[in-house]
Amino acid sequence: MFDTLPEQPADALLALIGLYRADPRPQKLDLGVGVYRDDSGVTPIMAAVKAAEKVLLETRTTKAYLGPEGDPVYTDLLKPIVFGKDPGGRVAGIQTPGGTGAVRLAADLVALARPDAKILYGAPTWPNHLQILNATRLKAVPHPYFDVKAQTVNVASLVAAIESASAGDVVLLHGCCHNPTGGELEPADWRTVLKALQETGVVPLIDFAYHGLGKGLEGDAYGVRLLTDNLDEVMVAYSCDKNFGLYRERVGALYVKARDEKAASVVMSNLAAFSRVSWSMPPDHGAAIVRTILEDPELTRIWREEIDRMGARVRGVRSALAAAGPGLKAHETQTGMFSTLALGPEQVLALRKDHAVYMAGSGRINVAGLHVRDIPAFVTALKAVGYP
Ligand code: PMP
Repeated sequence: MFDTLPEQPADALLALIGLYRADPRPQKLDLGVGVYRDDSGVTPIMAAVKAAEKVLLETRTTKAYLGPEGDPVYTDLLKPIVFGKDPGGRVAGIQTPGGTGAVRLAADLVALARPDAKILYGAPTWPNHLQILNATRLKAVPHPYFDVKAQTVNVASLVAAIESASAGDVVLLHGCCHNPTGGELEPADWRTVLKALQETGVVPLIDFAYHGLGKGLEGDAYGVRLLTDNLDEVMVAYSCDKNFGLYRERVGALYVKARDEKAASVVMSNLAAFSRVSWSMPPDHGAAIVRTILEDPELTRIWREEIDRMGARVRGVRSALAAAGPGLKAHETQTGMFSTLALGPEQVLALRKDHAVYMAGSGRINVAGLHVRDIPAFVTALKAVGYP
């Protein structure tokens, strides 16, 4: 039976965690795995989360099953955070295990509705996007989104890709804080993209995984809200794992705007059916934490303050990096935790071996892994391996 299976490659980024841990050098820098870190290098449990967990511990009376759609109160309470208002009955929402589950459900939905649809994606993208699209056997078509050498976003090629596609094809967009490049669509770019989508009937699937960690909760949502307000059909894959610091709890949601309320209800029935055959129902604890926070104005205030502080810290490290050398200047305009430096595999290896600087093999760094005081040493290491 199993002798037909090919061996799958190990996840290189997760392997890096083990190497970093085993490194005895005290000055080592972990810029690998994409989690937020505070000034002391810790990925904290947010105060609002701790408080909500206390409430849950004291008030929860059952852990009986919910249903394939998860907790609808959670998905409803999250809507104004995502869309800036109640988006109305044309937007169906389902709870998912993380943003990953939401992307997977969206891909399943497209594959069922339009098995021949092309999914346009900008390269480079989060590697799991491709793995998920391949798993649903959709045809993934790349366009060059970001020029790593020049550190620029190629809006023209994104628009050209949309214009060359047909109604019912899908374009995968990052809502904010592009992973792995930090290369952002500015408001004017979003408006250009909207126009191309209106002209072609290509449907956006917006992966919105880092809401609040770039320009803040309002600024980061510009594109998602513009497209949802002005298009008939939109999919938004949302993650609360980063902006509530709930990573391992697996908290996400998929929102789908359909042509009318009836179509939205058909979409919802299909999402629930996919959920049922994939994980039956999503894990509850993390979503219950988010619900408890959003139901309580004081906890919501504390959470908003915390996410604002996290975003501000990331922006602070970015400006310090941008000021530290000509090759790092683009960090000023990029947003979120990630950027991809134009480094070859030998340079990445030399940084790890000779300088104890750990980053993804692609040259992606997690900016949140840096403290401002680490920057001079980081720049010295970059120079030593020939980075400008
Ligand atoms: N989308 C992007 C672009 C991501 O970087 C990630 C996390 N690495 C996710 C989605 C999924 O996040 P999660 O499943 O942990 O919520």
